[in-house]
Amino acid sequence: MTKMSPLLELNKQFASTYTPGPLGPPAAQVVIVTCLDHRVDPAITLGLQLGDAVVIRNTGGRVTPAVINDIAYLAFLAEQLFSGQVAVEGLFEVAVVHHSQCGTGFLADPGFRKQAAGATGLPEAALEACAVADPHTTIKADVELLLASPLLSPRVSVSGHVYDIASGRVTTVLDARHPQLAGNN
Ligand SMILES: [Zn+2]
Repeated sequence: MTKMSPLLELNKQFASTYTPGPLGPPAAQVVIVTCLDHRVDPAITLGLQLGDAVVIRNTGGRVTPAVINDIAYLAFLAEQLFSGQVAVEGLFEVAVVHHSQCGTGFLADPGFRKQAAGATGLPEAALEACAVADPHTTIKADVELLLASPLLSPRVSVSGHVYDIASGRVTTVLDARHPQLAGNN
C-alpha cells in the first residue's frame, strides 16, 4: 500500500473505458501556464478533457526561462508536425493564470524568504522573483515578459488571467495579443 493506492484504483476505472487519441494539436488551441497549487487544477476549474490543452505548472505559475523554452519547443513542434491542422493566424494561445491566496505570497516577506532560501538552496532573489503577492500585478509582468521574448513565435498569442480561490471565477486581465514583429517595437 502507498498513498497512491486509492488513486491507482481510480486509474483502473479510467483505463477500463479509455480510448487513446492520436498525437495532435490541443483541441482548445490553448497552452495554460499556472501554479502547481492543488486548489487551482485547470482540468477542474476550466473543465478540460484529455487532449484539450497543454498545461505547464510551476511555483506561482510564473513565466520563467524554462517555461519560455517549453513554449518555444511546443510552437516548433506544432509548426513541424501539425502545419496542416492549425490555423494560419495562430498556432495556439498561451493563457497565463495566476491566483489569489498563492503560497508564494509569503516569499514577499524578507524573513520568510531568507529561511526558504536556506531550505531550498535557491537564491533569495530567485525566490523573490517567483512570489505572487498580488496576482493582478504579476500577471501583467509575466504576459509582457513572454511577449517580449525573442524565442516566442509570432504565431503564438498570449493572454493573462486571475483565478480567485474564494469564488472559483477566472477573470481575464489581458486579452490575447501576438508579439510585436521585430522592427515594429
Ligand atoms: Zn500558487
